[in-house]
Amino acid sequence: MRPLGYARATDADAAIALVAGHPEGAFLAGGTTEVDLTRQDVLRPGLLVDINRLPLDGVEDLPGGGLRIGALARMSDVARAPAVVARFPMISQALVAGASAQLRNMASMGGNLCQRVRCGYFRDVASPCNKREPGTGCPAMDGMHRGHAILGGSGTCIATHPSDVAVALVAVDAVVHTRGPDAERAIGIDDFFLLPGDTPDREHPLGHGELITAIEVPALPMACRSVYLKFRDRQSYEFALASVAAAIRVEDGTVAEVRLALGGVGTKPWRARRAEASLLGRPADQASFAEAARQELAQATPRRQNEFKVELAQRAIVRALNTLTGGDAR
Ligand SMILES: Cc1cc2nc3c(=O)[nH]c(=O)nc-3n(C[C@H](O)[C@H](O)[C@H](O)COP(=O)(O)OP(=O)(O)OC[C@H]3O[C@@H](n4cnc5c(N)ncnc54)[C@H](O)[C@@H]3O)c2cc1C
Ligand code: SF4
Repeated sequence: MRPLGYARATDADAAIALVAGHPEGAFLAGGTTEVDLTRQDVLRPGLLVDINRLPLDGVEDLPGGGLRIGALARMSDVARAPAVVARFPMISQALVAGASAQLRNMASMGGNLCQRVRCGYFRDVASPCNKREPGTGCPAMDGMHRGHAILGGSGTCIATHPSDVAVALVAVDAVVHTRGPDAERAIGIDDFFLLPGDTPDREHPLGHGELITAIEVPALPMACRSVYLKFRDRQSYEFALASVAAAIRVEDGTVAEVRLALGGVGTKPWRARRAEASLLGRPADQASFAEAARQELAQATPRRQNEFKVELAQRAIVRALNTLTGGDAR
């Protein structure tokens, strides 16, 4: 039996010092990932520092129309916050599309960004896995990889990033605010999620004891008409096979501004920059949407079981843009 300590922190500095001061210290928020994986022996924390009493659970307006979402705000609270529903519907929709009602009541926004992959080999300690134990191999490459990534994979890992809300946050260029033992940082969300490369065990740039304090959502007027669509094997309580967060502004029939990000297909929440570039200045019609989707997925590297995701992701992009522009939603 391994000893597991527990401490409840009453302020952020104490929480950071406790985790930083223990080589196997970890923050405990809602526990929906941390406790699950500790029980399965996938994670082996020596000390869990409960941060649930820290005053980091607000959703505050920022001057100009942006939002500051506390790291401990619960998914369900953020999903129904009036400012989120009105100004960033894709964030609200992505949250509601995730997990179950009970989980959303427990799960925090900071924990959501740090949740671990759903690859079955990662969660089975009897299997080798480069992410869990670097250098042991990746059985998913030639094994079960139907749900795995077709974008951003490497020779070491092809696990899909599982978060829904992170996809919407990537689309709006959110910023992750952190506080560590020595300094505070603001990390652009696209840089917060790391590609697996040769270090699949490193998923984000947080140092040991670095606490996410808030997620800043910059003002984006066009996001008040935005959408998050999620495609999965069943309509609830299931991770995405493909998902898309989209916002578009059309002027005189032409795409003036667009944001697109994909979930369920990338090793990180995938900003679809090729599709965005292809759409700007083009007619806001089915042909442009399909071409943009084709260009984004042209870089996909599917494997035997997940080839279908190439078409699925393209259709998801087209459907989201049609939904927003009132086009034919095929
Ligand atoms: C059955 C099931 C289905 C799910 N389905 C979905 C889904 O469809 N879509 C989806 O997006 N998610 C889904 N999830 C994942 C769920 O959203 C996450 O487990 C949850 O958001 C994690 O938040 P938490 O507060 O419980 O984090 P915890 O479990 O407490 O922590 C998770 C990790 O984050 C770290 N951490 C927590 N807070 C901070 C912080 N402030 N700063 C730094 N590190 C921190 C912890 O140390 C730990 O490593 C599902 C989970 C389960 C169990
Ligand atoms: S895909 Fe990644 S998480 Fe899954 S077995 Fe391979 S290395 Fe591990």
